[in-house]
Amino acid sequence: MIHLLDQTPDQLQAWLAGHGVPGYRARQVWQWVYARGADDFDQMTDLPGVVRQRLAADFQIWSTRVAAHRKADDGAEKLLLELADGQRIECVLLRDDRGHCTICVSTQVGCAMGCAFCASGLDGLIRNLSTGEILEQMLRLRQCLADGERISHVVVMGMGEPLANLDALLPALAMASRPDGLGIGARRITISTVGLPAGIRRLAGLNLQYHLAVSLHAADDPLRDRLVPANRKTGIAAVLAAADEYFEQTGRRVTFEYVLLKDVNDGPAHARALAALLRGRPALVNLIPFNPVAELPFRSPLSPDVMRFAETLREAGIAVKLRYRKGDEIDAACGQLRRLTSPY
Ligand code: SF4
Repeated sequence: MIHLLDQTPDQLQAWLAGHGVPGYRARQVWQWVYARGADDFDQMTDLPGVVRQRLAADFQIWSTRVAAHRKADDGAEKLLLELADGQRIECVLLRDDRGHCTICVSTQVGCAMGCAFCASGLDGLIRNLSTGEILEQMLRLRQCLADGERISHVVVMGMGEPLANLDALLPALAMASRPDGLGIGARRITISTVGLPAGIRRLAGLNLQYHLAVSLHAADDPLRDRLVPANRKTGIAAVLAAADEYFEQTGRRVTFEYVLLKDVNDGPAHARALAALLRGRPALVNLIPFNPVAELPFRSPLSPDVMRFAETLREAGIAVKLRYRKGDEIDAACGQLRRLTSPY
């Protein structure tokens, strides 16, 4: 069976043409899937029965099953999805008090980057997700919405390194942002990376208006080498040069993510070093107090230290956002739910 969500609009049109069905039927199929949330070809009642049967013989709309669905009091919901090969991935819906519904999706099963504070990297990389598996997370999360809610933002910040799977991710995001897809404009889509310079440059060259978030977590190479091992091959200077290029090409300000780890990277000297590194750049720093993970030796920073860190950056003229933790009670930090319920 072919996963329908792996098909581009042109591919589906070609399949239909090959079966003697006019191309406009492809538009109807996408409308049913993306606009009307159909999960069965039988629901596509404006398609002739014979076309529905042909589609059902060759295609499946869903390739995953929901293995777990958790809800937190703050409105966060997390899905653990089991893929056709038995692997498991996570995706999350976050609600804020402005009525935004942000979804966070994964791009790989596991992750090769091995960031020291992340549960997703503990088992290494198992495989890339397909375009359809990435899109399916978005559609599954959309099913969690209440009447009147709609997905406002997509962040590609779940399990995996998105720039290591760009070939599958780009068509998924193209479909997410098409008006006849999920209709989420490119400017409301964020791709979060540890900072692979070649991937950032490839993305910059496409000038697609996606928001880029680079996970920095340290302002000097020795500390970043420890926290983000991928840095050993690149170094901070090359990551920042690629981020600068992204801004120059797209005009979009880059966000730098900084997970605050108690007594590791949350001190006044760390804040001053970060301020010096980013001074003069059109940057936004997202400070994220660490979510404790059972297997990892890091602790959450103290509130006064977080405030002082943010203040140091602001005093240096750097825009700062404090990302409050959502969904703690459902293990919403990436990779946690999968590990709790994973057979591995
Ligand atoms: S933080 Fe992201 S890039 Fe780093 S190991 Fe976790 S999933 Fe991979």
